[in-house]
Amino acid sequence: MKAQCRNQLNVLFLPYPTPGHMIPMVDTARLFAKHGASATIIATQANALTFQKVIEDDFSCGYDIRTQVIPFPADQVGLPDGVENIKDSTTPEMLGQISHGISMLKDQIELLFHDLQPDCIVTDFCYPWTVESATKLGIPRLFFYSSSYFSNCVSHSIRKHRPHENLVSDTHKFIIPGLPQRIEMTPPQVAEWERTKNETTGYFDAMFESETKSYGALYNSFHELESDYEQLHQSLLGIKSWTIGPVSSWVNKDDEQKANRGHKEDLEEEPQWLNWLNSKQNESVLYVCFGSLVWLPHAQLVELAHGLEHSGHSFIWVIRKKDENENEDSFLQEFEKRMKENKKGFIIWNWAPQLLILDHPAIGGMVTHCGWNSILESVSAGLPMITWPIFAEQSYNEKLVVDVLKIGVSVGVNENTFWMSLGDEAMVRREDIVKVVMLLMGSSQEGKEMRKRARKLSDAAKRTIEEGGHSYNNLTQLIYDLKSLKISKALTEAG
Ligand code: UDP
Repeated sequence: MKAQCRNQLNVLFLPYPTPGHMIPMVDTARLFAKHGASATIIATQANALTFQKVIEDDFSCGYDIRTQVIPFPADQVGLPDGVENIKDSTTPEMLGQISHGISMLKDQIELLFHDLQPDCIVTDFCYPWTVESATKLGIPRLFFYSSSYFSNCVSHSIRKHRPHENLVSDTHKFIIPGLPQRIEMTPPQVAEWERTKNETTGYFDAMFESETKSYGALYNSFHELESDYEQLHQSLLGIKSWTIGPVSSWVNKDDEQKANRGHKEDLEEEPQWLNWLNSKQNESVLYVCFGSLVWLPHAQLVELAHGLEHSGHSFIWVIRKKDENENEDSFLQEFEKRMKENKKGFIIWNWAPQLLILDHPAIGGMVTHCGWNSILESVSAGLPMITWPIFAEQSYNEKLVVDVLKIGVSVGVNENTFWMSLGDEAMVRREDIVKVVMLLMGSSQEGKEMRKRARKLSDAAKRTIEEGGHSYNNLTQLIYDLKSLKISKALTEAG
């Protein structure tokens, strides 16, 4: 255990156990430690294993960082050992059990907050109850929002004005009220928790209410990317926010760190995908990935396979298997074999070292489900995108990429659907896929301009985390502010 000096800032981080939330929060905790704070990450055993190595490496480099492991109540919620992450769920029932297990951790976590006496807690947006915990302890709570400013501003606007209600049909567009740009949307593109009231509605209400009761917000974004919405967020919520991204390129500098992020298996010495990419021309390969949760219905996989093949462009496609039997899917097996033979496509099953792949010079674009981390990683690598949102705020992020930043082209998904409720049918046809792949990867003027804009943003993403850059300054200012709070609290207590 490292000795903590009196004025050192002691921060507890509580990530929500799903890769899209946990990966950037762990990176944020590492950033705090690299800037002199003492950082402790609270996680259950199986989740801690996915990032433990990098924390130990940081610790052995002299940074004051550690993981505090707590047991997951697997028995009590009827789950096998080790199933503790949202991405482990294959049915809605399992998702319910995992979420219930997570909610049962509250008492243990509050006890830890009390025992570890932090100066501040940084907790995921999905833990609204931590506002009260912080109040009881007299310390600030910062909520970590794992998506864009843009998406949260859209959420607030839609919650307040409900522009999607009372339209004559689902194909009618409405303008999202109160945004600095004219952004249109149709009712089925609105996040499912706003469209239909169900058992999760109360949970979302509590999350949104807890925002304004927090000391402030942390965003894994950067000023140059969405400054209008950073500003709008401030006026909508009336609380401070600190924009400190992109955190993943800030802390994951070498290949080993990039490869092991959020995944416990080590990278092979000479991965086949790397040899395959090395044989390709610069910017000639499309990377296709739907994040850590989504699996597509079989009919959609078939359409996507045909679309990619007919486009004539090379691709790396990460396919998430719902269960192991999918290996026996003869269509995909034959497709994989054919792509291997003609060297047009490479399939990675389940999990790919995304950061590493996106940085490879042979990659020229990405098909993304518009998860915020994937968008940021694509932007950081200077890659334009084909947007294919599935659920939650992903359809809002698509608008940012396509309509505001103009660094992507939409594949044309019209409906926001919870990923476990995707029907058996394909939402997107092969001919539409061919069209957008050719636009993005071919020599069209539109594609070239998107690429140019994406490169410019990538340069900005690199500068913002360097000394003197916006994100760099925001992080140092935040640590300074939190330290000042700590000191004034100590002075008040000393009387
Ligand atoms: N990711 C990865 N390999 C995969 C799938 C996902 O490294 O095969 C990472 C990806 O780089 C990103 C995170 O998992 O950092 C997914 O977050 P995102 O917000 O893009 O989507 P979500 O999984 O939350 O839907």
